[in-house]
Amino acid sequence: MEPENKIYDCAIIGGGLAGLCLAIQLADQGISVVLLEKNEYPFHKVCGEYISMESWDFITGLGLPLGSFNLPIIDSLGISSERGFMLNQSLEMGGFGISRYSLDHYLYQLAIDKKVSIYQNCRVNSVHKSDNQFQEIDTTIGKFQASIICGSYGKYIPSFIQKNEKYHGHDDRKGTNYIGVKYHIKSDLAENRIELHNFKNGYCGISKVDKDWHCLCYLTTAENLQNNGKEIKTMEENVLYKNPFLKNYFTKSEFVSSNPLVISNIQFRKKQTDLGDSFFLLGDAAGTITPLCGNGMSMGMRASKLLSKELLKYFDNKCSIEEVSSAYRKSWNTAFNSRIIAGYYLQNVFGKKNTTHFALKLLSKTPGLMRKLITLTHGEKF
Ligand SMILES: Cc1cc2nc3c(=O)[nH]c(=O)nc-3n(C[C@H](O)[C@H](O)[C@H](O)COP(=O)(O)OP(=O)(O)OC[C@H]3O[C@@H](n4cnc5c(N)ncnc54)[C@H](O)[C@@H]3O)c2cc1C
Repeated sequence: MEPENKIYDCAIIGGGLAGLCLAIQLADQGISVVLLEKNEYPFHKVCGEYISMESWDFITGLGLPLGSFNLPIIDSLGISSERGFMLNQSLEMGGFGISRYSLDHYLYQLAIDKKVSIYQNCRVNSVHKSDNQFQEIDTTIGKFQASIICGSYGKYIPSFIQKNEKYHGHDDRKGTNYIGVKYHIKSDLAENRIELHNFKNGYCGISKVDKDWHCLCYLTTAENLQNNGKEIKTMEENVLYKNPFLKNYFTKSEFVSSNPLVISNIQFRKKQTDLGDSFFLLGDAAGTITPLCGNGMSMGMRASKLLSKELLKYFDNKCSIEEVSSAYRKSWNTAFNSRIIAGYYLQNVFGKKNTTHFALKLLSKTPGLMRKLITLTHGEKF
């Protein structure tokens, strides 16, 4: 599809959960929105596919009838150590399971219904201010223009952002690099249960999603893969199988497809909420949280709600763009700063043979502390 010669109120770069949810909310209020996505829906993503219940009301409020999808509702957690100990805990807030293949596709269809202009197979290559003071977006299929830009391009920072002088770049070579691996499997794990299994330098989540699939998704260091001849299968057999629960899942489950989806170069950190010049960031583009907390999707969706609230005031001439920027930054920090810190510290306790084992044993004797830790990883319903 060719770009229309039109100036949009808002252009959104990247149509994952954060971008699609923002597009739907703005379009619902009559704002003209163009969303540019480099892939074509529906498509799979590396993600644990467990969504905190905090987002349920928000998603149904957008217009997606989750209640009619017969999704697994998850209220029980098991965490195992490599040494074979399993900590069991009920989840007060809990969550539900749905594959990204399905969820992003449903949201894409909803966005189309709300008259969002969506261009697929459209990679954004650069953004700059044009002579008429609008933002000009160069893509693989042509140029677009808009008053406001929102970047929801996910965890990988495009090179044109890294070159932006307002981007407070971090040196990606300094932190630990992680890889993420995901399979859909058929398993007998109870549909109300999510399990997290530790292994050396990593952990693996398993829970039910839609269809008759479970999602099995793990995170580990790039070094772990390197030490196993860069072979996923070798690493799984040499490292993950040392956890007896994981060995059981790997050897007794039916794999929907034998090849996993793999992503690399993952880092977890807070980034920034805007780049000045009417350019806002949300979802993983604004900050990534360790999947241990299992709530990156809810953070992206909540950020879309915070940002759309401020942008709608701007489009209604009730505030300046500088006020949007400062109000959004403040609300983002209030909503997520403590979660990101909690995720960072929890990540340090996981994936270590003895530390993890003794931490789980301790927590099994102090359920109050365990409940408190879980509370730190999610927010209230929104
Ligand atoms: C191993 C792992 C497990 C996880 N498990 C969970 C979990 O169980 N629960 C949970 O809540 N969170 C989980 N997360 C986090 C969650 O996946 C992310 O927080 C969430 O996907 C962020 O959504 P987003 O919309 O910001 O980005 P994304 O969903 O990544 O969407 C970004 C979109 O932008 C597009 N894009 C990128 N660059 C461009 C460009 N230049 N032009 C056009 N389009 C572009 C991409 O194709 C993509 O569709 C996990 C993360 C990892 C790594």
